[in-house]
Amino acid sequence: MADFEAIVVGSGCAGPIAAHELAKAGKSVLVVERGNFCGAKNMSGGRLYTHSLREVFPDFEGQAPLERRITRERISLLAHDANFTVDFTDEQLREGNAGSYSVLRAKFDPWLAGKAEDAGAEYINGIAVESLLKDGGRVCGVRAGEDEITADVVILCDGANSLLAGQAVGAPRPAPNAMAVGIKQVVELPKAVISDRILASDDEGAAWLFVGDATKGNVGGGFVYTNRESISIGLVATISELAKSETPVYQLLEDFKRHPALAPLLAGGKVVEHSGHLVAEGGYDAMPPLVGEGVLLAGESALMCINAGYTVRGMDLAIAAGMHAGRCAAAALDAGDTSADGLAGYERALRESFVLQDLRTLRGFPHFMEHATRLFKQYPEMVRDMMRELFVVDGTPVQPLRKSLPRLAKGVGYLNLAKDAWKGIRAL
Ligand SMILES: Cc1cc2nc3c(=O)[nH]c(=O)nc-3n(C[C@H](O)[C@H](O)[C@H](O)COP(=O)(O)OP(=O)(O)OC[C@H]3O[C@@H](n4cnc5c(N)ncnc54)[C@H](O)[C@@H]3O)c2cc1C
Repeated sequence: MADFEAIVVGSGCAGPIAAHELAKAGKSVLVVERGNFCGAKNMSGGRLYTHSLREVFPDFEGQAPLERRITRERISLLAHDANFTVDFTDEQLREGNAGSYSVLRAKFDPWLAGKAEDAGAEYINGIAVESLLKDGGRVCGVRAGEDEITADVVILCDGANSLLAGQAVGAPRPAPNAMAVGIKQVVELPKAVISDRILASDDEGAAWLFVGDATKGNVGGGFVYTNRESISIGLVATISELAKSETPVYQLLEDFKRHPALAPLLAGGKVVEHSGHLVAEGGYDAMPPLVGEGVLLAGESALMCINAGYTVRGMDLAIAAGMHAGRCAAAALDAGDTSADGLAGYERALRESFVLQDLRTLRGFPHFMEHATRLFKQYPEMVRDMMRELFVVDGTPVQPLRKSLPRLAKGVGYLNLAKDAWKGIRAL
C-alpha cells in the first residue's frame, strides 16, 4: 500500500487547489513544496482573474488577501520619449466572474495553502522533489531529500521551470523562444498617493501593460499593477530575445522605471521586493502531454499560460487546472485505476473548460509576437510621430493631416502595416 493516495508537487496556484479537492473528497494527500513557506519562491505580475477561484471558493472575497480590485485597464505604446495610452474603465470590470484583483504572491499563496491544509492536506515545506519514483513506466511516488514517498497518483504543479515534467511524460525542455524571463519590483508608496496617481479609489486600481521601449524594442513587454500600498512594476522578455539584447534585463527594468511615463507614478517610492522568474510563453503548441501513467500535470508545469499582449493569464488557468486535476484524480482513486487511461478524464475536463479552449483560441499569438518585431519599436515611434502631428503646436506651419499621417505610415511601409494587421487579427 502506498504512503499516500496522492502527492502534489508544488504549492503555488495549481497545487493547493488540487490538494484541496482531493482532501475534500476524503483522500490522503501530501503536498511537497520546496519553498520554506508557500509563496516564498513565487512571483506573478500580480493580476488574478477570479472566475476560477470563485468556482472553488465562492466566498473568497471576504477571506483572501487581495490587494485592489482592478477597474482600470491601460495599454501603452512606449517610444523612448513618448507614451500613447488606451485607458479603459467599465462597470462590468467590477462584477462577479469578470472581477479581477491585484495580488502579492507572498501573501496569497500561504492563504491558498491554508485552505488545502484546512481541508485535510498534509504539507512538507522546504524540500524540493528531486525525482519521481517509477515502477516500470508508471509514476508511483517522489524522492525528496532523503525520503522516498509513494502514492497512487502524483500531480505535478511545480511551475514554469518543471524539472519533473520530462521524467513524468517525456516532455522535452521548452525552447528558448517558448519561455520568458520575468523581472519585477514592488515599490512601496502610501495608499492615497497611489490612488491619486492612478485616478482610482483606495480599494480599486489599474492594470497597465506596455509595448515598445519597456524592452528596448525586443519582443516582450512591461507591466504595472497597483496594490493597496505598493506598485508592482516589471517586464517580461523571451529568453531568445534577451540572449540577443545589448541591455541586461535588470538594466531594462531600471530604464523602464525612469521612463517619463512611469517616473512620476513611482516618485518617492521605496523598493521593498525584487524578484525574477521564468514564465511560459509558447502557448498551446508548446504544451507537453497532460496525463501519464500515475501522473497529471497542472498549471505552468504543463506551460499553461497566455500572454496575449493585452492580458497576461496563468493563475486563473492554474487554479482551474488544479481543480480539475484534484477532482479527476479523486475519481480515478475511487475507480481504483490511476493509469493514464483511468486519469484521462482530466484532459477531457480541460478541453471542455476555458483552459484548453482559450489556449487553443490564442495558439497563434506567440508566433505572431515572435515575428511582429515592428510592434516593439517602429510602431510606437510611428504612433508618437502621428500624435505629434496632432498635438504639438509650436508656431511652425501646420501640415494637413491627410498628407502628414500617410507620410508617417509610409515610413513603416503600407504593405508591412497591412501584413502585421492581418497577422495580428488572425492570431487573435
Ligand atoms: C513576471 C510574471 C508576471 C506574471 N503576471 C501574471 C499575471 O498578472 N496574472 C496571471 O494570472 N499570471 C501571471 N503570471 C503567470 C503566473 O504567475 C503563473 O502562471 C502561475 O503562478 C502558475 O501557477 P502554478 O501553480 O502552475 O506555478 P507556480 O505558481 O510557479 O508554483 C509552483 C510551485 O512549485 C514549487 N516547486 C517547484 N519545483 C519544485 C520541486 N521540485 N519540489 C517542490 N516544489 C517545487 C515552487 O516553489 C512553487 O511554489 C506571471 C508570471 C511572471 C513570471
